[in-house]
Amino acid sequence: MKTIYKYLLNTLPRPLLIRLSYVFKLFAPIAFKGSNVECPVCERKFRKFLSYGSDIAHRENVLCPYDLTLERHRLLWLYLKQSNFFSEKKINLLHIAPEQCFYPIFKKQTNLNYTTADLESPLADLHFDLHQIPLDENSYDVIFCNHVLEHVKDDHQCMTELYRVMKKGGWGIFQVPINYESESTYEDSTITDPKEREKHFWQKDHLRLYGKDYPIKLEKAGFKIEIFNPRTDLKKLNYQKMRLNPDELVYIAIKQ
Ligand SMILES: [Zn+2]
Repeated sequence: MKTIYKYLLNTLPRPLLIRLSYVFKLFAPIAFKGSNVECPVCERKFRKFLSYGSDIAHRENVLCPYDLTLERHRLLWLYLKQSNFFSEKKINLLHIAPEQCFYPIFKKQTNLNYTTADLESPLADLHFDLHQIPLDENSYDVIFCNHVLEHVKDDHQCMTELYRVMKKGGWGIFQVPINYESESTYEDSTITDPKEREKHFWQKDHLRLYGKDYPIKLEKAGFKIEIFNPRTDLKKLNYQKMRLNPDELVYIAIKQ
């Protein structure tokens, strides 16, 4: 059962997975009945979460069976909840490669002027390549672009583009996989074989594996970086119950 599940998760196209997730929503509360783990996004408790990730980056007990959040989604959510994101009067939000677990929630928020963008997803409002964003400068108060920069050819150019379209005083969150055991980002353009890429960069379609220098890279594109560390910034947080990555931080990229 476990092998079949893993096979399906790694081979089925995403649109189909998204459709299957609706079926999951019906059965998860029964099949995973319990209270060992808790998802702050759907505010539901379960016996356990599902496993997720490639062979190299496989993790047990991390994927919420109801809304399919992972550690990084739950962490971002905890940040947003304590920020002014939901209370600020009017926010021009650009959401690149929008996560399925956030899309319906953001869509309903009346304070958000919400635009989604993606390279190809038909569900997105706009379609463009991040290397050349066809939008005016100083347009958005908040930009989310998570788990994209590890896939693009020239991440510095893409960061510069994100900086350009952000309003002065705006902020963005651009989460990427980070190897917190490495000081610097590991990049080697001669590694093109999918199996080799998975071994070196954790996933078949990743072009690099970021290290602890990730915020410095954002600074080089012009951003000022603030760090949200849930361990110190949130009181009484049950890390184990929400199944967060104990190393993961949120870098908030600000355009001053
Ligand atoms: Zn959930």
